[in-house]
Amino acid sequence: MMFQNQVIWITGASSGIGEALAVAFAREGARLVLSARREEELKRVADECNRQSNAADHAMVLPLDVTQTDTLAPATDQVLERFGRIDLLINNAGISQRSLCKDTDLSVYQKLMDVDVMGQIALTKTVLPHMLEHGSGHIAVTSSVAGKVGVRLRTGYCAAKHAVMGFFDALRAEVEDEGIEVSTIVPGFVSTPVAENSLTGDGTPFGEADADNAGGMAPDKAAEVILAGLGKGKREIPVGEGKEMMALWLKRLSPELTFRMTKNRK
Ligand code: NDP
Repeated sequence: MMFQNQVIWITGASSGIGEALAVAFAREGARLVLSARREEELKRVADECNRQSNAADHAMVLPLDVTQTDTLAPATDQVLERFGRIDLLINNAGISQRSLCKDTDLSVYQKLMDVDVMGQIALTKTVLPHMLEHGSGHIAVTSSVAGKVGVRLRTGYCAAKHAVMGFFDALRAEVEDEGIEVSTIVPGFVSTPVAENSLTGDGTPFGEADADNAGGMAPDKAAEVILAGLGKGKREIPVGEGKEMMALWLKRLSPELTFRMTKNRK
């Protein structure tokens, strides 16, 4: 029960990995702040969290859109008013992409950057001063294997996930000696609605499951791996059990081979 009574703020908590993390932390007795845009879905997750923790009020529903950056400071104030501190922030909200570069409108790249990069940076910047003031805290971000390797149909998503990897690795170098831990979570395929919610070239949702994600790791198992990694203070947490995880070490050992393999993977 290493997260008991810890105050944990999860974005993207209305679905998929964020939802599974919320439920897993609730079982550990954590106090939770659940954020995403869809309030009804957050309430559903909060009910489940309160059931799991046997506490009526351990989960706070705090709807927000991470791209509305002017709302993030007031949201942080609400969390501090309710719980007095934030022990762990998990920047997990995100959207993916399913379109070739030649077919993708510039506005789609802008949206991917706004949600997957700027939203994570903006929220981190509102929470960080409170952690620095207390001399402790933990900030995590859900990047991706696509944050290490470039793959077809995801030029914008790969750019965004590489960007957060760089940002949070650099942030760690700045704040680790001040008592702030920073973890990058690196999932391969996890079985969530991420493909359905992905953006196509004109910005409309892809709307279909894809075999890779559908056959990926179960979200509750992914949550287990992430909790274990965060609990140990791991700086980088790989999450997955399929062949895609090989890309993490292959990219380091043989970039050339990785480029050939990703080109041939349709
Ligand atoms: P889901 O689509 O199930 O979850 C995405 C979450 O992000 C939802 O809760 C969604 O909630 C929220 N979200 C999207 N846009 C915004 C926004 N503008 N503001 C606030 N919240 C937002 O997919 P996953 O659970 O799979 O994705 C979670 C994270 O994991 C993402 O960052 C994704 O890129 C990453 N990831 C997933 C992998 C996988 O295979 N599933 C692999 C690698 C990384 P709402 O719509 O209510 O706002």
